[in-house]
Formats: sequence, structure tokens, C-alpha cells
Amino acid sequence: MTHFKMKDKTALVCGAGGFIGGHLVKRLKAEGFWVRGVDLKFNEHAETEADDFAIGDLREQSFVRAVIDRPFDEVYQLAADMGGAGYIFTGENDADIMHNSATINLNVLDACHKRNIKRVFYSSSACMYPEHNQLDPDNPNCAEDSAYPANPDSEYGWEKLFSERLYLAYNRNHGMQCRVARYHNIFGPEGTWDGGKEKAPAAMCRKVAMAPDGGQIEVWGDGKQTRSFLYVDECIEGTLRLLRSDFEGPVNIGSEEMVTINELAELVIALSGKDLGINNIPGPLGVRGRNSDNRLIREKLGWAPEQPLADGMKTTYNWISGEIDRKHNLRKAS
Ligand code: NAD
Repeated sequence: MTHFKMKDKTALVCGAGGFIGGHLVKRLKAEGFWVRGVDLKFNEHAETEADDFAIGDLREQSFVRAVIDRPFDEVYQLAADMGGAGYIFTGENDADIMHNSATINLNVLDACHKRNIKRVFYSSSACMYPEHNQLDPDNPNCAEDSAYPANPDSEYGWEKLFSERLYLAYNRNHGMQCRVARYHNIFGPEGTWDGGKEKAPAAMCRKVAMAPDGGQIEVWGDGKQTRSFLYVDECIEGTLRLLRSDFEGPVNIGSEEMVTINELAELVIALSGKDLGINNIPGPLGVRGRNSDNRLIREKLGWAPEQPLADGMKTTYNWISGEIDRKHNLRKAS
């Protein structure tokens, strides 16, 4: 552990062992912060750059009090029980998802309040938008003010909605300055790419990288469901800008470049240079269409993500195929 000097700006990242948290720690370190990371585990893909990393369970109040033992200039609460469609939409993990994530948010936010910490960032998700506004794949409505009457299509989305309200209630009643973002499908290197919790971009890269030339990859659904995907660096940029702004949110942090899932698959196939077919099979899906609506973020922050999907997918594909080769070589050597 590196001790901080009084002049250092300090940040706490809850969920620092995860995908976005790992990238966020790197960015905060590059900005000169003293950073404490907290998670159940270390990140499996990259060594942490945090000055101090506490391994423990944020569902435990005593642990939360121990890691929030001083005022931090910035707190980022990203820890959640989450995964891709194969984890969130099967129904098998609903009780855990709701109980674990809500408990983490209740504990972390209250501990921040008791330490008189003002600025807390909370990562909600586009999964909280009503299902009935996302039935038309060509015209999904994800404007921030379309959230109510609420009707998310998963318990994951309901928990996010509850926690958004919790953070904003602490602003109203306890004079805090929490900031709430609704992330839309974040992807990039150093994220989960196998094991069941991976999301569509990473799963697609893995399937394509592992498929023999001339073969086929399986894609869930009819492939016409639409989504947008945001590269992790732009997600971090939006996160920092929001936390340091006067706008409490909730606000979308996502890309407006909407593609069908089959188009995403075709993009990855093209990046690989392989000749592969697509086999659409039944699978857990989520809503029919979803795209970020960036009017509010542009208005309030004067900024919105702009990087083309193909650029981020190229970096991600190269990283995942490298990881697959590395695993393969390790297996051969042992
Ligand atoms: P992730 O699963 O990689 O990271 C979450 C981290 O939280 C994990 O490392 C996990 O170990 C940790 N965690 C879970 N339970 C914990 C507990 N009880 N105590 C301590 N740590 C615990 O997920 P991510 O993709 O980095 O997402 C970060 C946040 O952004 C999450 O809140 C997620 O819901 C939200 N979000 C992500 C996306 C996306 O596309 N990645 C989209 C919308 C919202």
C-alpha cells in the first residue's frame, strides 16, 4: 500500500476488480489521484494500479465502514452482481442480483453520508428503461424522461431503478451531490470474455476468434435485435465529466451508433479476415431494440461519445484473440 500525502486528491473505486472499475483506476492514477480500490477479487486480466486495494464484501457493513474510513474527494460505486444476457435474463439469478446489488448500494451510500463525503458516482444501466418503449428494433425510445411509468424487462433493471432513486434521495435529504449515469453496453479490452458473464461484443469476438476458417458462429435470436455499444475509454470520460459537473442526472452514457446483432457479428468477422457464416439460434435476449439517446448529455455536459464502433471492436478483438492464444500456449506448455 502506498500512503497518500495530504496534497493528493483521493478517490475510492468500488468494483475496482471489475471491467470498468479497472479502467477507471488507471485513468484516475494517470490524473494523479491516490486511489483505493475495493472488490471481492482482483481483476483477472490486468494488475491493479490502485495505491491500496481492499479485498472484501461490500454487502458487509463492517467492511464498508472500514474502507470508507476517511473523506474521499471522489467515490465511484460500480460494484454490482451482474453479467450479460446469459446471466441477467434467465431468471435463475434474480434473487442474488436484487439482494446483492441493493445491499451494496445501501451500505456504500450511507457510509459515504456518515463520512460527510459529497461526490458519489453511481452506475445505473439502460436496462432500467421500460420494455414497452423498446419493442421496435428500428425506433427504441431511451430518452431519460421515458423511464416512467417504469417497466424494466429484468430484475437487474428494477434494482438499478431503485438504487438511482436512493442516490437522488440522499441528494435531496442529506445535501449530497451524487451523480447517476445510465450506461449502455460498455465494451473493450480487459473485460470478461468467457464463462457465462460476458456480454455480446466480447462473446462475439471469442466465437469468431475460435471458429475455424470456413465455419460458422452461433448468434442468439434472429439477429435483428438492435443495440449500441460504447467503448470503455469513452465511458470513463463521460463518468468523470458527469461526477465533476453540476448535473446530477440520471443521464445516458452510451453510443448512438445502433447496429443489429448480426451486423455486430459481421463486423467482427470482417475484422478477423476469416470466412465465417452466422447461425441464429434461440437464446436469452432482452429487449428488441435499444440505442442511447444523447441529447441530454450533450445539453448538460456539452459532450457526447463519438468514437466509431469499428475502432473499439478492432482493439477488443485483437485483445481477446491474444488472450485465447495465450491460454492455448499455456495449456500446451503445461
Ligand atoms: P463487472 O462485473 O466487471 O464489475 C463489477 C465488480 O463488482 C466485479 O469485479 C465484482 O467482483 C464486484 N462485486 C460484486 N459484488 C461485490 C460485493 N458484494 N463486494 C465487492 N465487490 C463486488 O461489471 P462492469 O461491466 O465493470 O460494470 C460496472 C458497473 O456498471 C456495474 O454496476 C454495472 O451494473 C454497470 N453497468 C455496466 C454495463 C456494461 O455494459 N458493462 C452496462 C450498464 C451498467
